[in-house]
Amino acid sequence: MQPRRQRPATDAPQAATVALPKDNSNQEQEAPLDQIESSGSSSSSSSSSDCEKPTETATREFLVSLLECPVCFGYMMPPIMQCSRGHLICSQCRNKLNVCPVCRVPMSNIRNLAMEKVGSKLIFPCKHACYGCRVRLSYADKKSHEEDCEFRPYFCPYPDEKCVWQGALKDVYKHFVSTHQNVITMEGTDIIFLATNVNQVGALDWTMIQSCHGRHFLLSLEKVQLGEGCQQYFAACRMIGTMRDAADFDYLISLEANNRTLKWKSKPRSIRESFVTYTNADFLVLNKSTVELFSEDGNLALNIIIKKANNGD
Ligand SMILES: [Zn+2]
Ligand SMILES: [Zn+2]
Ligand SMILES: [Zn+2]
Ligand SMILES: [Zn+2]
Repeated sequence: MQPRRQRPATDAPQAATVALPKDNSNQEQEAPLDQIESSGSSSSSSSSSDCEKPTETATREFLVSLLECPVCFGYMMPPIMQCSRGHLICSQCRNKLNVCPVCRVPMSNIRNLAMEKVGSKLIFPCKHACYGCRVRLSYADKKSHEEDCEFRPYFCPYPDEKCVWQGALKDVYKHFVSTHQNVITMEGTDIIFLATNVNQVGALDWTMIQSCHGRHFLLSLEKVQLGEGCQQYFAACRMIGTMRDAADFDYLISLEANNRTLKWKSKPRSIRESFVTYTNADFLVLNKSTVELFSEDGNLALNIIIKKANNGD
């Protein structure tokens, strides 16, 4: 396997993209406070609680819909900003725009405290509802749930900052083989992951997929430059699966060359887990001289065996 590429010295900033609404059909946004008042008074004037229920639900849904940001379609959380004509926008989108996305007047820094108070009494769908989450939450609980929601999308695990793909777990492998076609897949529980030209200068990475037990595992060797002449290699096995799925397996890496053997056994990590850096993660770490001892003609062969945990050795 050829090293994939030389890592750039700095991470290129990603361009922020903003989706503008197709038209201004969301007219309710123009006078939110009037409408809140009228719907509030109509429900309080009704006497029977049985009759109130459908109206109340409709009112709540209506209020929730008023808090949908016209740019990102997420629900607005405090601080909720507005233009001088009263169109609401979430604070993240506000920071990216100079004109109102609805009426195009220059954007002001007016905060709509009344709508923030209305929002604090409502419950909102989780932002991963499109992936199947049915939970509804208050402002106070929304963020922490969404960060940990089991329906949140998976990011592409390919070590390339340029790929911004995210989606459901079932689509990760499909994305991988169609977009990152240089990554090969090998079938079998016991395979050789051959990284070529491991001594090549610079920070490099080698990636392949091992398919076995009906699942896919991402094998990678990452070469990290820690300073002048100081390099470390991280050999990782990550499962395209949830953290619970990954706990069902063990993997073994063994290196054998020049009358030396080195073995490492651990549990695969899930691609769900994000590592700030390889250097603080639980992977096999090899230094430059170890790699030199085990490589032949500049190629390092890692024998990878993936087993079901608890089914004996
Ligand atoms: Zn927004
Ligand atoms: Zn406006
Ligand atoms: Zn959720
Ligand atoms: Zn990708």
